[in-house]
Amino acid sequence: MTQKKKVLVVGSGIGGSTLAYTLQRAGIDAHCIDIKSCIPMTGSGINLMHNTLRALGSIGLAEQCMDSGFPFQAFKQHAASGQLLMTNPAPACCGIRRPELARILESAAEGVGAVLEKDLTVTDLTDRADQVEVTLSDGRQQSYDLVVAADGAYSKLRDRIFGPEHKVWFAGQSCWRFNAPRPNDVDAFCLWRSADGRRTVGAFPTSKETCYFFFLESSDKHLHLDKDQLHTLLFERLAAFSAPALRDSLAHVTSANQVIFRPFDINLVPPPWHRGRVVLLGDAAHSPTPQMTSGGGMAIEDAVVLTECLSQTASVPEALQSYSNRRFERVKTVWDASLQLCRYEQEPVPNPQRSAALLLQTYQYLGQPM
Ligand SMILES: Cc1cc2nc3c(=O)[nH]c(=O)nc-3n(C[C@H](O)[C@H](O)[C@H](O)COP(=O)(O)OP(=O)(O)OC[C@H]3O[C@@H](n4cnc5c(N)ncnc54)[C@H](O)[C@@H]3O)c2cc1C
Repeated sequence: MTQKKKVLVVGSGIGGSTLAYTLQRAGIDAHCIDIKSCIPMTGSGINLMHNTLRALGSIGLAEQCMDSGFPFQAFKQHAASGQLLMTNPAPACCGIRRPELARILESAAEGVGAVLEKDLTVTDLTDRADQVEVTLSDGRQQSYDLVVAADGAYSKLRDRIFGPEHKVWFAGQSCWRFNAPRPNDVDAFCLWRSADGRRTVGAFPTSKETCYFFFLESSDKHLHLDKDQLHTLLFERLAAFSAPALRDSLAHVTSANQVIFRPFDINLVPPPWHRGRVVLLGDAAHSPTPQMTSGGGMAIEDAVVLTECLSQTASVPEALQSYSNRRFERVKTVWDASLQLCRYEQEPVPNPQRSAALLLQTYQYLGQPM
């Protein structure tokens, strides 16, 4: 009888908690740790694209997400005044609040017997070729068949194992986000464009009751902003938008801590995504700009594919090679398209038709099996 594999998943974000669930469900012991003490309750929303819903469906979790979130299938374009200019079909998507998605994924993992522990990280790690010996921050020493770095774009484990040359770099844009009660007409992926086409605000529903707004800002370098003034700075930037849905929603933003500001720090690690028995997953391997709303979806797909690879062979090195082979081209296609869209948005004269064509082409590509 072959011995049950034991995997340490570092990071219980979207990718890590999905992986803990899929591994344990496949009969592989998953121990998933996170440096944070709990699921952050302040998270914004996330769009689960058609391919993400399909991956979640393949592991029995799509329905829960659609029940808690808000499925939609249209893009709505508006003038800054709120006038609806055009409605186009979109692939079947679902908006959901990030804390709710985290709750679904973590409960599913714990439900099948994966061990999830918070307030914990890796302090030391030695790859002994057939096992990885790990010291955890609470002093415990454990051995694993595999360690997965699912610790996000700023992955410490990636820096340690792959070296500093794979660190993220700034893509020239940052995102402002806030949550609000859902106006009735925010029932799809909505965009409002300023008259000169230079500023766009977006929103989509995250449940029947809630939605989330975002605004992208271009800059040469990271912007250093007064964290206590984020709400005031956001109001200034959106002053030219008089759309009632947006103005009513902004009225709910009364303090800086309701606004999330984040630069687009990105990377794409070339294959293979493993060194010995340590492998990268999700943003640790490929943090994209969010134009394709697919980073979380790619992390979920990574988890499904890595579990399939580990289940199909007893050899961990073979499984890891096959995981990179199966994932890299698909992730690169979406990553490249996201960055291209981000660059188009930074051009002095935007060309929405060109962006829409690339978006559509990449949605079609994503529709293909992973
Ligand atoms: C503005 C914006 C909008 C986006 N919109 C979408 C969208 O609509 N749809 C979509 O699919 N994607 C979207 N994304 C991308 C998506 O958020 C990420 O791709 C996704 O969160 C990656 O999941 P992950 O599990 O790899 O990393 P994360 O979600 O970042 O999780 C990493 C986890 O690791 C933990 N961690 C970090 N360091 C350590 C450590 N040293 N030890 C232990 N644990 C650690 C963290 O606490 C965290 O829980 C968006 C991103 C941005 C910036």
